[in-house]
Amino acid sequence: MEIDVAIVGAGAAGIGAARRLVDSGTVSVLVLEARDRVGGRVHTIEPAGFPLDRGAEWLHSADRNPLSPIARGLGFRVHQRPPEWTTRLRRSGETVEAEADWLATREAQGRARRKAAAEPVDRSLASLVPPGGRWNELLDATSTWGNGAELDRISVKDYVRYEDSGTNWRLGEGYGRLFDRLAEGLPVALGTAVSRIDHGGRAIRLDTTRGTVTARRVIVTVPTSILAAEVLRFDPPLPDKLAAAAGLPLGVDDKLFIWLTGSLSGIEPDIFLVGSTKSRETMTYQVRPLDRPAIYTFFGGRFAAALEREGQGAMFSFAAGELARLLGNDIRRKVAPLASTAWLQDPWARGSYSYALPGHAEDRAVLAAPVDNRLFFAGEATSPNFFSTAHGAYLSGLTAAEAALASLQS
Ligand SMILES: Cc1cc2nc3c(=O)[nH]c(=O)nc-3n(C[C@H](O)[C@H](O)[C@H](O)COP(=O)(O)OP(=O)(O)OC[C@H]3O[C@@H](n4cnc5c(N)ncnc54)[C@H](O)[C@@H]3O)c2cc1C
Repeated sequence: MEIDVAIVGAGAAGIGAARRLVDSGTVSVLVLEARDRVGGRVHTIEPAGFPLDRGAEWLHSADRNPLSPIARGLGFRVHQRPPEWTTRLRRSGETVEAEADWLATREAQGRARRKAAAEPVDRSLASLVPPGGRWNELLDATSTWGNGAELDRISVKDYVRYEDSGTNWRLGEGYGRLFDRLAEGLPVALGTAVSRIDHGGRAIRLDTTRGTVTARRVIVTVPTSILAAEVLRFDPPLPDKLAAAAGLPLGVDDKLFIWLTGSLSGIEPDIFLVGSTKSRETMTYQVRPLDRPAIYTFFGGRFAAALEREGQGAMFSFAAGELARLLGNDIRRKVAPLASTAWLQDPWARGSYSYALPGHAEDRAVLAAPVDNRLFFAGEATSPNFFSTAHGAYLSGLTAAEAALASLQS
């Protein structure tokens, strides 16, 4: 049987695209997903009686994010308490004055980035950092949290295109559960990895681990890492797509979830800490998020890649050391590892979210462009302004679905 639209990948983009197509009621749809679950880089687990988001957690730009009203409509608890990202330093042993200096440095970097983005040459963010600056290590660390990579890897022009309203909300049930709900009833073939898309003939043929599927249109939503490594190949080849995917690698960000087995007297819930302001190899900590008996740690870049190789024990030992310095040695008796991620080692993600290498800011548009009005591309890396996010991926899926529908009607 020939499907009207096959979608490769059941992450945020694939689910968005499939929902739109199925709701149109006019086309047959099949989603092909390599994993044995939907959601991709949005995934909620519950190992200790409360939900943990292994991937996306925050509804970024929540006041503009189309998933906020959808979550509410489905009865999810939307927590609007703003994250205290700007008071991290004073809570982590720096003075209020030092924190103000750090925030002023960040503002100055923001201005320098916007100015540099208007220049003809696309530079790296690192080229704008003042030599020997007091906060240079922390600037690099925050880049690994925001972009998944150090400043020298990041294109200025791409960076400034990212839109952030500054409003960040969380879902009580977990972001992954929202996508589980959105995927309910969709025609998804799990455990079905696509290795080759033959678009040379009238019908498009997709070779999968469970046989061949033919379709009139295909929407590809896999991460750039999968395209660049040619885990999924095109026949005839698409060198522009391959080059664009290589220009938009996935950075690395990981989480270690720590169980609080004892009480933390004198520490308010939902505060943020930073392990060190003087090393790029450090973690950021969310203490008792949403009042839960846990500490969530977040870390990125080369440091995260190295810790992934060493495993959860190494992650926990590093985090316990930083927490002991911040909160006193007593904390060591009150914490235990609960769960951790290794997104770089995940075979179907091979990283966390995309950034553009210097000189590659235009690659997102190249990646997003349809081929022959039959092959369409979606996924967070194709989003011009909300890349690296779940809502950017979801919106890109809607756009690709609209384009596929229009192409079938023309
Ligand atoms: C640690 C971490 C924290 C994050 N935090 C946030 C956050 O707070 N807020 C936010 O908005 N975003 C966050 N993100 C980013 C967000 O999760 C992603 O941008 C988004 O989920 C990407 O969706 P996608 O559909 O583009 O890709 P994916 O979710 O990767 O979906 C692609 C799907 O394709 C499948 N696939 C791959 N190869 C094949 C193949 N050959 N055949 C078939 N299927 C295949 C994959 O299994 C996957 O399910 C975070 C990500 C990580 C890793």
